[in-house]
Amino acid sequence: MRIAVIGGGIGGLTAAVALRQAGFEVDVYEQAPELSEVGGGINMAPNATRVLRRLGLGPGLDREGVRPAGTHQRRWQDGRTLQRAPLNPLCEELYGAPHMTLHRADLLDVIAAAFPSDRVHLGHRLVGLRDTGDGSEAWFDNGTTLTADVLVGADGIHSAVRTALFGAEEPRFAGCVAYRGLVPTERIADLGLEIGSQSWVGPGAHLVHYFVSRGRLLNFVGWTEHDTWNREDWTDRATVARALAAFEGWHVQVRTIIAAAETCFIWALFDRDPLPHWSVGRTTLLGDACHPMYPFMGQGAAMAVEDGAALAACLLAVDDPAEALQHYERMRLPRVTRLQEMSRANKMRFHMRDGPAQQARDAEWARAADRSPDALRWLYEFDAGAVETVAA
Ligand SMILES: Cc1cc2nc3c(=O)[nH]c(=O)nc-3n(C[C@H](O)[C@H](O)[C@H](O)COP(=O)(O)OP(=O)(O)OC[C@H]3O[C@@H](n4cnc5c(N)ncnc54)[C@H](O)[C@@H]3O)c2cc1C
Repeated sequence: MRIAVIGGGIGGLTAAVALRQAGFEVDVYEQAPELSEVGGGINMAPNATRVLRRLGLGPGLDREGVRPAGTHQRRWQDGRTLQRAPLNPLCEELYGAPHMTLHRADLLDVIAAAFPSDRVHLGHRLVGLRDTGDGSEAWFDNGTTLTADVLVGADGIHSAVRTALFGAEEPRFAGCVAYRGLVPTERIADLGLEIGSQSWVGPGAHLVHYFVSRGRLLNFVGWTEHDTWNREDWTDRATVARALAAFEGWHVQVRTIIAAAETCFIWALFDRDPLPHWSVGRTTLLGDACHPMYPFMGQGAAMAVEDGAALAACLLAVDDPAEALQHYERMRLPRVTRLQEMSRANKMRFHMRDGPAQQARDAEWARAADRSPDALRWLYEFDAGAVETVAA
């Protein structure tokens, strides 16, 4: 069976590796002239590292990634601890897979190295497609066309495949922008940070930082609320001074990290409502193309990684490809919808103004430790490659 994957991001490439290892003939079509990921760091929780390790990517992850000892949530102004939880080696002990933080470009390189480069067709922007009943036809802006037995749209939040299947609908600005930066570790040596992840919450904003690139860089993402937004370019540059102004009055550690940034980007958050269906005939979607989510659970790419494993497993287990795609979406929808909703709720919880509601939240966090690997068992122990029986 010939499978065309549209989009060579983390989701598309992971799916391509999983489908190829399952024995299918796979080609990837990517609009950009090269495979690239911009924007700094990414968390790969145990539910995602389990999938990547099974695909043989464990050594690459170990080489490029960092294993944070724990996660620490703190108050924006005085740095008081709101909750702490261990991550490594506990995740490995509990779930047989680590929690890792990586530079996005390193992660993409590790995944791409497991797929033949001559099956990645760069400079191919999909502009249209047609499901033919026994396959799919697609055409690209460079004038080429393809036919495949199954077509998978892994082309991100602005997905052309989604538009072709379900019609055009612009994503909505979610009222948040992020300042993102990378800091050479030696510039902040005086802070004496442990190899871990910290998350600072305050009124209308929060900032997360963790190490990437074998510990050589500290990645930070600082979210602030905004009413309007006109640009959508992820790589828009921001000045360090502007990021510092957005975090005026925050703890000295937060401001020291921002001030030490080598480069700073600004990025706007967009949102879509959950889709009731992802598949039409022999064509389906995965990752941000069908379930973009706020990054406030750190699970968007992890869900795209899981999708790839689940899709390969369904196409192996169910003879009829169209039925297999229906099975895949039924298996995946409840889980990703739950995470979309939890991620939305976290925006409110992370950005509370100081006052009684914030105090109640802090007390609940201290009691419940909702970030601990134990509390997230349902999320972390999930085996995306297991084909569940799901009622039609
Ligand atoms: C600030 C921030 C922090 C985040 N942190 C985390 C985290 O810690 N952990 C986590 O799991 N997730 C995180 N996420 C979410 C994660 O980044 C996304 O969910 C993930 O990158 C989606 O991957 P994807 O492959 O589905 O889509 P994309 O990464 O958007 O890839 C889509 C690919 O398709 C290509 N493409 C687009 N249109 C076409 C076309 N017409 N034809 C051909 N190719 C096309 C694009 O060029 C791109 O290469 C974060 C997101 C943000 C914004």
